Amino acid sequence: MSTPRVPDGPTDDLTLPCGHAIGIDNLDMGMREFSCPCGDDHAVVMDIHPLSRWVPEEVASVLRETIVPDDEYDEFGTIHLMAIVREEFPERVVDYDASEDPTVGYALCWVSDHSARRLHEIIVELLIELMDHAVSHAEDDAVKTTFSDQLASFNVASFVTLYRDQRDFERP
Ligand SMILES: [Zn+2]
Repeated sequence: MSTPRVPDGPTDDLTLPCGHAIGIDNLDMGMREFSCPCGDDHAVVMDIHPLSRWVPEEVASVLRETIVPDDEYDEFGTIHLMAIVREEFPERVVDYDASEDPTVGYALCWVSDHSARRLHEIIVELLIELMDHAVSHAEDDAVKTTFSDQLASFNVASFVTLYRDQRDFERP
């Protein structure tokens, strides 16, 4: 049940993993990290954020083609990704359901007690596991070999550094 929002009043809609409670109006659609009064930065993810926040569009499209979600969604997206993250870190990620509130511009929001960068690394690691699993079912042995060759020389931390630099550079 949603309670009407009191303008300018203190509202603590969401208790973060660190124990701090915040009003949901502290978060906006463009936000990727929240500087918390606890002193840490917490990663903020919304369902409207594209997978390309973390991986190149080519990888995102491979994920969409290879993973068929068994829910009402047509294709794999951020909501599925965050479900996997929550499964891995149930104590460290909270979510907020804003689907009843059309004014905020998103339906679901997650706050993790990781920094945005650390969460990025975790997500890339989880996606590699997912793709590895998908590729292991591939018919074509050449695909498997190519993938494991690429994986062998892949460094998550340097990928994330590079990708974040590039993405932030391209963002207007
Ligand atoms: Zn905090």
